[in-house]
Amino acid sequence: MFQYAEAHKTVKRQKEFTFTLPIGYRDEDGNLHREATLRKMTGREEEVLAEPMYANNGGKLVTQLLYNCLLRLGTLPNITREVVSNLYSPDRNFLLVKLRTITFGPELQANYTCSSCGTLNYVLEDLDSLPVKNWEDGEDVEIEVELEDGYEDKGVVHTHMVFRPPRGEDEEKIADIAKRNIVKGKNALLTRCLKKFGEMETYRFQGLGTIIFEELTLKDRRKIDESLEKNMPGIELSREIQCVGCGKTNRVDIDLENFLYPE
Ligand SMILES: [Zn+2]
Repeated sequence: MFQYAEAHKTVKRQKEFTFTLPIGYRDEDGNLHREATLRKMTGREEEVLAEPMYANNGGKLVTQLLYNCLLRLGTLPNITREVVSNLYSPDRNFLLVKLRTITFGPELQANYTCSSCGTLNYVLEDLDSLPVKNWEDGEDVEIEVELEDGYEDKGVVHTHMVFRPPRGEDEEKIADIAKRNIVKGKNALLTRCLKKFGEMETYRFQGLGTIIFEELTLKDRRKIDESLEKNMPGIELSREIQCVGCGKTNRVDIDLENFLYPE
């Protein structure tokens, strides 16, 4: 029975929040762990957010935040930094959004500058309403792209690419390059995530590295972007905003780097 007089004394604040990851973490034995339990951010995470060593590396910042706040992951006996770095970026982004939501609530005041007229659009986002694409258990995530112009190597044109989603460690490794040049950063990331390329041997396309992505036509590069965006599991961070100034529809991404610490 509900005892009114006792209620305010016995109510405890919720300390743990459990979510199902869009992809999940596969351990060395092949077991998939998808139930992730988070705690709220505290002053400790405020220190992490203010830490100069993370200022130029969003990947490392996210790893540290999740390492602090992730209490459990499936039946893993312990969660190391390596586990958090090894999580797929869609899972990490999903957890970041949840971390923001459990700590500050789902409402996010966002600003988007219109690409045509420069008007600043203020939008109140509801993070709980963002759609999530969940991957089916059992299979590794592979995203296929069929290029039009392709890439010629030793007289053979290769057109079929297979990508895996990026992981935290990829974000950490490419951060320096991306800081200097966003497109070079993207090429480095795509290179790391390329699993198969036409008939080419793995050592061959890995040896060529970013050269492949530098030499692809812009049309093929756009095909890769479209396919990755359309087929990548995880929380949908890209959305359309209609400009209040000129009426044009802009496609924008919710900014994950600054949303954790609202003013
Ligand atoms: Zn506009």
